[in-house]
Order: sequence, then C-alpha cells, then structure tokens
Amino acid sequence: MQAVKMCIAAACAGAGRSAGEVLLVAVSKTHPPEAVREAVRAGQRDFGENYVQEALGKIAALADAALAWHFIGPIQSNKTRAIAENFRWAHTVDREKIAVRLSDQRPEHLPALQVCIEVNVSGEETKSGVAPEALGALAKSVCALPRIKLRGLMAIPEPSTDMALARRRFRMLRELRDDLNRDGLALDTLSMGMSADLEAAIAEGATIVRVGAAIFGERKSA
Ligand SMILES: *Cc1c(COP(=O)(O)O)cnc(C)c1O
Repeated sequence: MQAVKMCIAAACAGAGRSAGEVLLVAVSKTHPPEAVREAVRAGQRDFGENYVQEALGKIAALADAALAWHFIGPIQSNKTRAIAENFRWAHTVDREKIAVRLSDQRPEHLPALQVCIEVNVSGEETKSGVAPEALGALAKSVCALPRIKLRGLMAIPEPSTDMALARRRFRMLRELRDDLNRDGLALDTLSMGMSADLEAAIAEGATIVRVGAAIFGERKSA
C-alpha cells in the first residue's frame, strides 16, 4: 500500500499535480475480507470490486468499517439492483438501459449513485464500453436521470508495455471529457490507470486510479 502511494505521489510530482487530486481505489477482487481489513488498517477507504456476488459478501463482512465501494466490472441488467443498493460508485455504465435501472433502483435513503461512463478507447471489438462516437448522446441521457450522478469517464485500454500508446489512450479519454464539459456538462472524474499503467494515466489527468495487484499481490486466476 505504501509503495503504491509513493508511486502515485511520484507520478503526480512528475506531472506537476498534487497527490491529493488522485483517489486510489484498491481493487480487492478475488482477495478475502481479511486482506481488505488489513488495507483499512493502513488507512485505505475506497475499494473496487468486479463481481457482484463476491462483493456482497465482503461488503457485509466489512459493514462496520463504513467503506466506499466502487463497482468496476461489467454490469448485467439482473445485477443493477444489488449495485444500486450496495455501492457508492459504478464506473462501468455503457448503456442507457443500465443507467435507467440504476437510477430507478437507487434507494431513497442513499445519496445519488456516483457513475462514470466506460468508453472503449482502444476500438477493440470485444471490449465493453461505449464507442466514442456514441458517448455524447449517452452522457446527456445519463445526466438527466435523477438518482445517479454522472461524474466522468472510465477506460481500460488494451494491456501494453508501450507507454506512448497507453498515454494516447488516456489522453483520448481526457479530451472526450473536456469536449463534454465544453458542451455544458460538469465532469470532474477520469477513472483510468491500473497497476501497470498508473503513471501514464496520472500524467494524462487521471483523478481515480484502480489498483489491484500492486497492493494485494498477483491474483491466482483471471
Ligand atoms: C482488475 C481490475 C483493476 C486492477 O488491475 P491490476 O492490474 O490488478 O491493478 C482495475 N480496473 C479494473 C476494471 C479491473 O478489472
């Protein structure tokens, strides 16, 4: 945890940004509640999960710690209710239908669900995320929903050791966000960067990095 914090601080310094501008979401998928508990003891409050069923067990086990849970996996229609009821953030909205369900199902006693739209910045056909051409229309309809708050954009570029390529993908996401803001939206969030590419993401303006392996160790299975 401290090593990742130092990495983030160094990347921020290198980019002329303050470390306080970047929120670290610790991705705890496949790791047990005890691993989360240990990170909480080290001061971590925000955690990311990809699988609803697995997450619900951990959220219940750690209810006393009052943590902020971020849903970062693909969202199926039949999982929207559990996400709306148990998470503070959903990073992977990429269809209007899913956004409508999340808004309808967000309980009244909770503040609006904070959401990002996932964008397919690498153009891979099998990839989730809305195509850049379709982003504007989706963003406007998401903004109109009462019980979710559109905060920004999220992307998972193709894995690559090519830093210049990673930076181009992240820069594209930032430019898409800036375009939407010029159109009158007020988006403050760029959820981009994982263990392998957080430095490139921070250099291009990430405000949330989602880091798993560098905190919890390598996952045993994908
Ligand atoms: C697993 C995952 C991460 C974390 O990846 P690491 O390489 O373990 O840091 C971040 N974002 C998403 C969407 C993920 O699925």
